[in-house]
Amino acid sequence: MAGKRVAVIGAGMVGVCAASYLQRDGHSVIIIEAGEPGRGASFGNAGCFNGSSVTPVAMPGVLSQVPRWLFDPVGPLSLRWRYLPAIAPWLVRFVRSATPEQVRRTARALRPLVGPSLAALEPLVAAAGAADLVRRLGHLYVYRSAESLEKDRLAWELRRDNGVETDEFDADGLRQLEPALSRDYVRGVLVRENGHTVNPLLLVERLLRHVLDAGGELIRARASGFRLAGERLAAVRTDEGEIAADAAIVCAGAWSKPLAAALGDRVPLESERGYHLMIRDPEATPRIPTADADGKFVATPMATGLRFAGTVELAGLTAPPDWRRAHILLQQGRRMLPALAAHYPQERISVWMGHRPSLPDSLPVIGPARASADVIYAFGHGHVGMTAAPMTGRIVADLVAGRTPPFDLAPFSARRFA
Ligand SMILES: Cc1cc2nc3c(=O)[nH]c(=O)nc-3n(C[C@H](O)[C@H](O)[C@H](O)COP(=O)(O)OP(=O)(O)OC[C@H]3O[C@@H](n4cnc5c(N)ncnc54)[C@H](O)[C@@H]3O)c2cc1C
Repeated sequence: MAGKRVAVIGAGMVGVCAASYLQRDGHSVIIIEAGEPGRGASFGNAGCFNGSSVTPVAMPGVLSQVPRWLFDPVGPLSLRWRYLPAIAPWLVRFVRSATPEQVRRTARALRPLVGPSLAALEPLVAAAGAADLVRRLGHLYVYRSAESLEKDRLAWELRRDNGVETDEFDADGLRQLEPALSRDYVRGVLVRENGHTVNPLLLVERLLRHVLDAGGELIRARASGFRLAGERLAAVRTDEGEIAADAAIVCAGAWSKPLAAALGDRVPLESERGYHLMIRDPEATPRIPTADADGKFVATPMATGLRFAGTVELAGLTAPPDWRRAHILLQQGRRMLPALAAHYPQERISVWMGHRPSLPDSLPVIGPARASADVIYAFGHGHVGMTAAPMTGRIVADLVAGRTPPFDLAPFSARRFA
């Protein structure tokens, strides 16, 4: 197969995984990045490679939970009311996707994308000298009551139905597994197949460095559209001029919507903003990344400290961050790890806000554009973009090479919203 000139738009985790797999196929890769590589959503996430994450965000019953979350100041969801008219159509689709049949379909579609995450990442990190940034310790979900575990029954059923193996712990078992956790937790579920990175930014940077060392190119420019010759791609248009390419991959995360629109695909992509708060040299930390299932946040032990990440804020791409939401994570974190200090000097704390690229049905868009099969979409991975990036990269390379992908891509089509 003759190598093509492939433009990869966006140097987040999805972009660098796509670039890596494309380069392995012998293509020349040009990465187009408008900002700093790895500084989008891929910078501040919880770092988890959770192959078990097959449950959509909108689960049956979500409509009855939303009002409670919205009016709870430390709740996991907030909405800037001024943004409501803009996001209303997305919210309608979000709620409509929460039927028992649809969530089962979603889980089945997601499993082959997220399940092989660590296996698909492994050759990339091995080649890039980044294996030290990836751990395989599992992921622990903790509950404050047997009732709250029971409320998650459908989520666990979906995971198990899709081949996820779990170990359950009672209060004593949890104590032995993670002594730093609050004794208020009485149930835990450990998913051993999951892993995490101790530094998401460094991981993206090392993967990118490897692509560049192997002959890839990084162009600092903002992509704005495409020049087609009939149905064939001629060039990617950018604010720095045109970049000639035989194929292009759209992996600009939450900013991908106008690029798809330029090719006639209207996708309801929104930002689900999330926050993190980090503590340097924490007094207490879990060994395994741990999700508080009720609070919907994750505590991840990272190389640079303990990271609490989570919450969803619906406020679009341009509104300034509301740092109170990051500090809520510290409040919640103290309830998880009681040995944390009551006060921290500013220099031990850092906060971040980023944009999860989210479709209302919790499935990304992966596949060819309507106007040209030379342009492949790979965006909208929402809460699971770190996890799904390695397999997305493999699939993108399959599509560019004309190979049949390892599973059906129909659920990921941009046209499902038409
Ligand atoms: C708080 C939080 C916690 C999370 N935790 C996890 C987790 O534990 N596990 C997990 O799997 N996922 C997690 N996620 C989700 C995950 O971070 C994202 O899904 C993933 O990082 C998306 O990667 P991406 O490459 O698509 O986008 P990004 O990392 O945002 O990269 C997109 C890149 O495209 C560039 N760009 C944008 N527009 C243009 C343009 N026009 N031209 C050129 N370049 C452009 C941007 O500058 C950016 O660098 C979390 C997210 C948040 C917010």
